[in-house]
Amino acid sequence: MTMVAILSGAGISTDSGIPDYRGPNGLWRRDPEAERLVTYGPYMADPEVRRRSWLMRRDTPVLTAEPNAAHRAIAAFERTSGHALRVITQNVDGLHQAAGVPDRKVFELHGTVRSVVCTACHARSPMAEALERLEAGEPDPACRACGGILKPATVMFGQRLDPVVLGDAMSVAKAAEVFLAVGTSLQVQPAASLAGIAAEHGARLIIVNAEPTPYDALAAEVVREPIGTALPALLERLR
Ligand code: ZN
Repeated sequence: MTMVAILSGAGISTDSGIPDYRGPNGLWRRDPEAERLVTYGPYMADPEVRRRSWLMRRDTPVLTAEPNAAHRAIAAFERTSGHALRVITQNVDGLHQAAGVPDRKVFELHGTVRSVVCTACHARSPMAEALERLEAGEPDPACRACGGILKPATVMFGQRLDPVVLGDAMSVAKAAEVFLAVGTSLQVQPAASLAGIAAEHGARLIIVNAEPTPYDALAAEVVREPIGTALPALLERLR
């Protein structure tokens, strides 16, 4: 049994119709107005920013997207290969779990858009419920338990990563025998450094990404072909 870790980024979800929002060249970074909607300070300070942020959540394709061939290949590998698989993801779309990877094996560095969290009492509830309240006429739904400001359970710009999730991801990177970085430009820290940590600890680093990354020189293998076909083939080879 081999310990296989996969670090996934925006590139794995583009075949599901989800564009790169938060990467260095992502949509949000290129549109300062949109970036404010997902930046913690403005979000907390301005009810108008929150109103527009909820509408943006309602209108993005993220919540209705379906897993694609790459997500499904990872889930099938987890179920049937006999190897230990862990997924560390920079994505907030929940598509690894939607494809069938158990929740406990997925470490979401930037949180998830499938839940909302209260910024005061930290209670969590489904995003679908918040969007129903939006549709019912609450433009900025407040926490039902304490009246606090609700936000998506994502790590917004200006927020720190959850240290527990990051610690777990570090442990996975150190323990991995094979570390696949898929659809990530490896330019956002500390997520990117996980590839270096894995390689330092003896993992065979494989990078599957259309563009060069700063970690290509450390990799045992670099794959430039489209993820939807290259990743299923690669996982088949690792069985
Ligand atoms: Zn609350």
